[in-house]
Amino acid sequence: MVCKNCGANVGKEYRLCPYCMSELEYPENKAEQQPIIIQNIINNQPNVATSAPPTVSNHQLCSPKDKSMALILCVVLGMLGAHCFYAGKAGMGILYLFTGGLFGIGWIVDIIRIAAGSYTDSHGLPIK
Ligand SMILES: [Zn+2]
Repeated sequence: MVCKNCGANVGKEYRLCPYCMSELEYPENKAEQQPIIIQNIINNQPNVATSAPPTVSNHQLCSPKDKSMALILCVVLGMLGAHCFYAGKAGMGILYLFTGGLFGIGWIVDIIRIAAGSYTDSHGLPIK
């Protein structure tokens, strides 16, 4: 290895020239750096996945009301708004009581919505 600064012939084990203390340039060092960079990118990928924000559990965003209970009430007494009262929506229940489940349309829609798990209680939480 020849020092570029002072021209002294030094051994390969030196990183700095022992005569002028300037940094020795080994061309093979640059080639070795590339695989290390690629390895770092591969190693960083699992970290990126785990650092993603944790998904909020659907369990915490569900109504405490029982879905099968709401479905039975809706099928049997849905025309009278029983499932609305069960879900805590008294106003809707009274409306269903006087209109026969919105003339049967609201009743059918609610059966589908309860079965699909998209029917919500008075707090807007889905009954699942
Ligand atoms: Zn030198």
